[in-house]
Amino acid sequence: MIARHARPFHLDTDMRTHRVNRPDPAIELPVLDAPRQGSSDPPAARLPRWLKREVPKGNANHYTANLVAELNLETVCDHARCPNRMECYAQKTATFMILGNVCSRPCGFCSVARGRPEPVDAGEPERVAEAASRLGLRHVVITSVTRDDLPDGGAGHFRRCVLAVRSRTGASVEVLTPDFRGNADALRQVVDAVPEVFNHNMETVPRLFRSVRGPRSSYAWTLDMLRLVKQWDPRIGTKSGLMLGLGESRDELLAVLSDLREAGCERLTLGQYLRPGEGYLPVTRYVTPEEFEELGALARGIGFTKVASGPFVRSSYHARDMA
Ligand code: SF4
Repeated sequence: MIARHARPFHLDTDMRTHRVNRPDPAIELPVLDAPRQGSSDPPAARLPRWLKREVPKGNANHYTANLVAELNLETVCDHARCPNRMECYAQKTATFMILGNVCSRPCGFCSVARGRPEPVDAGEPERVAEAASRLGLRHVVITSVTRDDLPDGGAGHFRRCVLAVRSRTGASVEVLTPDFRGNADALRQVVDAVPEVFNHNMETVPRLFRSVRGPRSSYAWTLDMLRLVKQWDPRIGTKSGLMLGLGESRDELLAVLSDLREAGCERLTLGQYLRPGEGYLPVTRYVTPEEFEELGALARGIGFTKVASGPFVRSSYHARDMA
């Protein structure tokens, strides 16, 4: 349950091991594929101008990509095929994806590989800290695949990563976690590490929840997570995000924003859902930049203190500005 995206390159999956080979860091990324034949997405001819982006020139992104490869780390930027990858990598920022590169959930929007995850890598927290240090990050965003196979859902590993990054760099840390299958003790482990920002994405409205986030997901628990984090430690900033263009109505969206505020959520991201490829949920509409602006203003009006709302906004886009 990670991010939302276009399809800038192909991943190479080794079916014997379920490992996904890292994309070649030198690959230049076209930003948006035309919807494929047979897709129910709006046709390519109607692809709105605001979703067409120039591919940035130059190799400024290579330093980040090479460092990630050298340290044997994963980023959601790569695996979720984020359309902002070139921009973020060129600015020497990335969102680290811990606990492997294979997810145990079949979310309908996400391009991260699914299957049987590998054992937890005990050296990963130190390598994330090393990467954060060498990139000079002042705000470090850490997310993960969902690990329903682990008793604590990977919460202890999240905690170790937060502590390692803080100890090595002094940077603020933002965690973007899975739902730990409703396990409040697991959530507590992450909270006890006191990340500066706790981010858990709503992703969509209740009516679409299970088709988007899978049958194990729960709208009520998502709200409870944000509420509990704030109750347990009010110093931690809370954040959530939704993808638009999955079939939600305006009224449904506004009801979710209201629920998030009621749960004490302070930060909000709204972005356009982009289908990662064949077999994923279709895009039902492209929201205009003007409507994103209007929704952002509306969110601020009901009390969100930090809001990013726009077609290419993702959970971790310009995260430092929202810390
Ligand atoms: S928006 Fe987030 S996920 Fe996308 S490239 Fe930037 S840091 Fe990575």
